[in-house]
Formats: sequence, C-alpha cells, structure tokens
Amino acid sequence: MSRLIATTCIAWARLPGNTNKEYALRLMYDLIVIGGGPAGSSAAITAAQAGVKVLLLERGRYPRHKVCGEFVSAESLGLLSELLGNRGKASLTDAVPISHARVFLDDRTLESPINPPAGSIARYDLDAALWRAAIENGVEGHLQTSAQKINGIGPFSVSTANGAFESLAVINAAGRWSNLTAPAKENGAIREKWVGLKGHFSETAAAQSVDLYFFPGGYCGVQPVNLLGPENEESQGGRINLCAMVRADTASTLLDVFWLHPQLRERSRDWQPLSDPVTTAPLFFRPPRPAEQNVLMVGDSAGFVDPFVGDGISLALRSGALAAKSLAPCFSEKISVARAADVYRKSYEQTLLPVFRASSTIRKLLALPRFLRGPLISLLQSSPRFTRYLVQRTR
Ligand SMILES: Cc1cc2nc3c(=O)[nH]c(=O)nc-3n(C[C@H](O)[C@H](O)[C@H](O)COP(=O)(O)OP(=O)(O)OC[C@H]3O[C@@H](n4cnc5c(N)ncnc54)[C@H](O)[C@@H]3O)c2cc1C
Repeated sequence: MSRLIATTCIAWARLPGNTNKEYALRLMYDLIVIGGGPAGSSAAITAAQAGVKVLLLERGRYPRHKVCGEFVSAESLGLLSELLGNRGKASLTDAVPISHARVFLDDRTLESPINPPAGSIARYDLDAALWRAAIENGVEGHLQTSAQKINGIGPFSVSTANGAFESLAVINAAGRWSNLTAPAKENGAIREKWVGLKGHFSETAAAQSVDLYFFPGGYCGVQPVNLLGPENEESQGGRINLCAMVRADTASTLLDVFWLHPQLRERSRDWQPLSDPVTTAPLFFRPPRPAEQNVLMVGDSAGFVDPFVGDGISLALRSGALAAKSLAPCFSEKISVARAADVYRKSYEQTLLPVFRASSTIRKLLALPRFLRGPLISLLQSSPRFTRYLVQRTR
C-alpha cells in the first residue's frame, strides 16, 4: 500500500468517536514490531499467542552470527523455553550450561559459581529459532525489510522500501544502533567510541565457565558454545565463543585483542577460527527510554546494558514480552495506546531498571584507578560471598 493511502487510512481511522476496535478493523495489523532479534521475536510471539495480528519486520536475514558473548542468564531460560515451544527447544537442549565465572583482572583471578547455571547459546541458532517460533505462532514476518520511518502517535504507519504498513500499536525492537533509535543529537555526545568483536574458535575441553579477561581499554569474554545444524556437527564440543568490547583505539581485530592480556595470549596459541569474525557499530550507553511518542521500546532500543553482566538477551526477552502484555488491553479496547505505553514504562522502571543501575555501579568500580581497584579485588578474593552478592545484584 502506498504511503499516501496509508496516511489517508490513518487519518480516517483517527476520526473522533472511533474506538480502538474500529481503528483495528480498518488497519492492516494490530501490532507492528520492528526488529527480529530476541526482543522483537519475544514481543511478536507473546502478542500472537494472545490472538493479536502481528507484522514483524527485520532488516537482515537468519541464520546469521551477531556480536554477542552468547551467555543467556538463567532467569530468562524459562521464558525462552515458553517462547520457543516444543519444536524450537533444540537450541536449549544443546545449550552448554555455564556454572562458573572467572574474572582475570590486574594479575589476579576472581571466581564465582553461577547458580542456577546460565546457558551458552549461539546467536546464529537462537535468533533463527525465535524467528521460526514467531512464524509458527502466526506472526507475519518480513525479512530483509528495513523500517524507514514511524509516522503517527497511534495509530501508526511504518514506511519501508516495499511500501507502508499501518497498525494500532508499534514496538521498536531495532536494537541499540539503528536509523530509528539513534537520534543525531545523542551521537554528538558520545565521548568514547567502543566496538564489539566476536568469533568462534576451536578449543578442546573448554571448562563450562565464562572467562572474562580485562585489560586497559576493554575486556574479552570466552566460553564454550555449540552450533546446531548438520554442517557444524564435526565441531560440537570443541567450539568456544570469543567476544570483546574494546575502545576503538585499543584494537580493531580479535587477533589484536589476544595480545592485550598475557593469559588470553597464552590460551589462544592453538585456537583455529571456526567462523568469520563479526564486528558491531560503535556502542554507547545512555539512560534507558522505555517509550517514545507512544512507541514501546524494547531490548537494546530501550537501553543498552554493559555486556559483561550478561543480561542483554534476558532484558530483551523480558522487555519484549512485557511490552506485548502491556499492549493487550489496548487491542481489546480497554485502554488507549498512550495509556498502554505509560503502563509499560512504569513496569519497565520497576522490574528492569535495577539491572542497569547495578551494572553501571560495577562498571564504575572497574574503571577505578588500579591503586584503588586493588583493595576492592582483594576484598572480593577473600570474600566469595561478596563476589556472589555483586553477581546477584545484576540479576
Ligand atoms: C560485545 C557484546 C557482547 C555481548 N554479550 C552478551 C552476552 O553474553 N549475553 C547477553 O545477554 N547479552 C550480551 N550482549 C547484549 C546483547 O547482544 C543484546 O542486548 C541483545 O542482542 C539485544 O537484543 P535486541 O533484540 O534488543 O537487539 P538486536 O539483537 O540488536 O536485534 C535488533 C534487530 O533489529 C534489526 N533492525 C535494526 N534496524 C531495523 C530497521 N530499521 N528495520 C527492521 N529491522 C531492523 C536488526 O537487524 C536486528 O536483527 C552483548 C553485546 C555486545 C555488544
């Protein structure tokens, strides 16, 4: 449908006296979700399971590798299992349990159990399985379709190169850096440019541990991972994922990163690459924004949590489901989109914002000068309970 027709349709649907139900009858979809990562798929599946007519737009295609440590924290494994349903659960049964964390910092090693264990799941498998689950739940999914602009404040028209689509509500799940989530005025405020680098390598008998190597200008996480699919069977059991977040002036490849930490350099001696490396656009942190102009923001588009806490996927899945549930009364005429956005904002602030606060505190502690950080690390080494407490604070 052309943009003109969509705009006319929306103007007509907005006539005074029209109820949500009347809008919905004339609009093409109840809900458009932009972005088919964990947040978008979670929102789309949750809404579709409640009988909502959903369009899910994804700029790229699946399967594909994404920059990520691939650590899925335990508290979201239950939700993930519900979203994937019986057919998609293979990615969960093949998840490597991660029951231990080791932090290599300033010539010392901090260790903590992770209980209940997290799962290590390749994004190559995870995002594709979630996308498939969305389609199986009746979501209309369009791959290689980039949303160019969101028009309106409810109902909405979303323009793409293939035409415009209109809906009663929109969820923005386009990630931390997209044409829809990075206003130019914020870009100017970025002081430090950080980038993400990721690749799979071979390593025999890697421990079921997430190992974080910190060095000036960044850190690198290493953990075992499996990759599903017949073409990858031969590498089962001997694959690790390596993911680094570094200041752009510190390193531009994973090989550069190996040289930044002596234990990492030693460990990497026999590694062979099993995937092409992937990199991200610059990363930046800003206070979370759960709703904008009545569009519900989920996952990284709402806020990007420091990756070392391993909660980004969990936040994406939980915020996606929360947004879809907050919108449910709006589709059954009980509340307006604006009210649903408000309900979502409040729930987000109550349930998800504490993770951002805890991770920002830990980031500040890690950024202390070495002479101040030393006593803190000694405290953590001598008091595993305190280390466990810090880990718990990010859950
Ligand atoms: C270095 C690094 C390491 C990390 N490690 C971990 C970890 O170990 N554990 C963890 O839990 N989290 C980790 N994270 C965070 C995690 O990757 C994100 O939090 C998670 O991917 C967020 O999911 P999302 O669905 O919000 O966004 P994404 O996964 O980014 O998905 C957004 C999707 O939207 C699509 N899109 C963008 N713009 C448009 C558009 N205009 N139209 C249509 N589609 C669009 C994109 O193609 C993309 O597929 C890490 C992040 C980084 C950078």
